[in-house]
Amino acid sequence: MNRTLTYLDNGSTTQLDPAVLQVMQPYLSNICGNPSSEHRLGVASREVLDDARRTLAQALGAQPTEIVFTSGATESNALALRGITWSPHRSHMIVSGIEHSSILGHRAWAENLGFEVSTVLPLPSGHIDPESVSGLVRPETALVCIQHANNEIGTIQPIETIGQAIKHKNGKTHFLVDAVQSFTKVPLDIRRSKIDYLSVSSHKIHGPKGVGALFVRRGLKPQPLFAGGEQENRIRPGTENVPAIAGFAAAVKIGMEKSASESARLAALRDHLVLSILREIPDVSENGTPGPRLPHHASVNFHGARAETLVHLLESEGVIVSSGAACHASSPRPTHVLRALGVVRDEGTLRFSLSRFSTQTDVDTAIEALKRGVALARTLR
Ligand code: PMP
Repeated sequence: MNRTLTYLDNGSTTQLDPAVLQVMQPYLSNICGNPSSEHRLGVASREVLDDARRTLAQALGAQPTEIVFTSGATESNALALRGITWSPHRSHMIVSGIEHSSILGHRAWAENLGFEVSTVLPLPSGHIDPESVSGLVRPETALVCIQHANNEIGTIQPIETIGQAIKHKNGKTHFLVDAVQSFTKVPLDIRRSKIDYLSVSSHKIHGPKGVGALFVRRGLKPQPLFAGGEQENRIRPGTENVPAIAGFAAAVKIGMEKSASESARLAALRDHLVLSILREIPDVSENGTPGPRLPHHASVNFHGARAETLVHLLESEGVIVSSGAACHASSPRPTHVLRALGVVRDEGTLRFSLSRFSTQTDVDTAIEALKRGVALARTLR
């Protein structure tokens, strides 16, 4: 990362860890075998895949045979969702209203097939009440999709209670959890949570882009999204991206090793950021509280400023953050997540997301730039 920049947009993507790049290097050059080939270069690549599968399985508390490598969590979510076949007895789905677009974008597809789709809205804090999920589960409910942590407001959902409540109501309902934002950061017990499918992505944890995985509980076999070879237990055809998968596994190992210590350090840094903002900038409020949330994440409304203006003013000072609202010049409209919390217009929402490469200096730089940027943005509305 260019150290002249203060990068606080790790919820969008993260920098590749140099140690991960080192692990990938041989598979980008001389160890080029196709894992399906019989010769020794193929065997070497296959061993990398097997090893990576074991690493992912161990991190998730799963069996290696339950891990399917994909091109990222968008594909993982699509594979789990589109793998559900409609029948009159399995004709209903439940999704939370604050899922990522790779889940919510399937609504039209599901409805065209004949599924009825129910939406669970969060409490004002952004948390999902387990009873509001289980209350919607019916005999014909095929699937429930609830993310572990939200990518905009950082709220962590009570997945274990939700999973148990779903299965208590209908043991045949499948449970899909998008764990992209929480993976290696917040522990999740997939067995106790009764999870059937779980999506993760490499580029959110300092691994390469374009690779992810889907946990598929033993005994389930989602329909592949496309035809082809027999890779990935016949669930995901196509030659595996060996360098990326090797990098993903390396990133998982490092992330898991540092998980506890980094969570504590980042929560303290994040709290310093938020408390300083609340103390030093008037008319601000926070989204995603009270309640459990990601340690490295904050979503703050700077009332009276436009989010897009703020992003660019901060950028001009070398501070990179993300707007929490998808603001287009012509229609400054809050995102579906903020609307689900009751936000009706652009409230100058910014998302700050730290990583293990973030420092106290980064946070202090951001606070100083914010003080100037917010004051200016409020005059520019
Ligand atoms: N789910 C969530 C919660 C995400 O934040 C993202 C990435 N923004 C995705 C899914 C999609 O992941 P990928 O970029 O690997 O396709």
